[in-house]
Amino acid sequence: MGKDYYKSLGVEKNASSDEIKSAYRKLAKKYHPDVNPGDKNAEAKFKEVSEAYAVLSDPQKRATYDHLGSSAFDGSQGSAYNAADFDFSEIFKSAFGGGFGGFEDLFGDFFGGSSSRNNSAVRGSNVFAQVQIDLLEAIFGCKKIINVSLDCMCDNCRGTGAKPGTFPENCRKCGGSGRIHIQRQSMFGSISIQMSTCNVCNGTGKVIREKCQKCRGAGTIRQEKKLEIDIPKGIANDQTIRISNKGGAGKNGGPNGDLLVTVYVKPHKYFIRKGDDLYLDVPIEFIQAVLGDEIEIQTVYGPEKIKIKPGTQSGTVFTLKNKGVPNVQNNRIIGNLILKLNVHVPTNVSDRQKKLLKEFFADNSDSKDKKKSFFDMLKDTFKN
Ligand SMILES: [Zn+2]
Ligand SMILES: [Zn+2]
Repeated sequence: MGKDYYKSLGVEKNASSDEIKSAYRKLAKKYHPDVNPGDKNAEAKFKEVSEAYAVLSDPQKRATYDHLGSSAFDGSQGSAYNAADFDFSEIFKSAFGGGFGGFEDLFGDFFGGSSSRNNSAVRGSNVFAQVQIDLLEAIFGCKKIINVSLDCMCDNCRGTGAKPGTFPENCRKCGGSGRIHIQRQSMFGSISIQMSTCNVCNGTGKVIREKCQKCRGAGTIRQEKKLEIDIPKGIANDQTIRISNKGGAGKNGGPNGDLLVTVYVKPHKYFIRKGDDLYLDVPIEFIQAVLGDEIEIQTVYGPEKIKIKPGTQSGTVFTLKNKGVPNVQNNRIIGNLILKLNVHVPTNVSDRQKKLLKEFFADNSDSKDKKKSFFDMLKDTFKN
């Protein structure tokens, strides 16, 4: 006598797929092993309804079943499907994928998100590294070799953690979910269900019977690697570059993590960077400030000639357009180089020089008048 899948789910032979799904959901909640720990009858019932649902929810399998009866699925010779192939946790998941309504509350985050399912694909970890460069490397961009220590996929087992030729099996205790539910009864008889990491598979959902000897079952091996990284033009001190997919190896087919490299730009002896602009203090001699001159400034892009007008004051600023740092987002935008002229005041002055300077200031009525008027004006600001 074959199994009656319709009867197992308590639906009519002409039931719609929605009716089948809702019937299964109701029964699966009732008989799920996590709600009935240790109850063999419930477990058998759960498997029965799950198998029925797996067949009846698939239009092709349902048609085969309608035509041939359950012998098509019982594993006997000539059967179309092998009943042992049913993965009950997968069937259950497919019926409850997405929202679970009240069931979700009962099981907390068990089915709430992919992150709690440890046997699903796990993204590799992000790896952090640092590199130090100088200002010119930051301005023009550069390639750097960095040493990182990261989890690489084990080439012996190809990341499965199992001895080559063997494969990890689904954990029987948790059905591959990595989590189990523990029922606790309080003094007053109320029962609470708590979640816990499966103690058999340690939350991985998989059990490795024979471990890969190279990685001892981890699937990854920590390795020191030299990686060449491209540092973009215009990078600023303390900025972090994210290099996708160059971090730790993913597990269960998950993607690799990212490599995050924080760049430290060594301060330059003369140039100071603010945003995309560079600042440079240029010392000039007293005589150059008074008489004017032409000087050559070494910018990061090469020499530039600057005309100093006669009578240039200390602190005078020159802006050389587009001689600063390229913007890291858009290299076509280049900051400016801002030059500040500082007049050097001589400190060791000979007697002859002192005499000449005194003569110079005696002649220079302009500077005397200006000084006087400045002090007068300053005094004026305190008068009512
Ligand atoms: Zn291995
Ligand atoms: Zn387990």
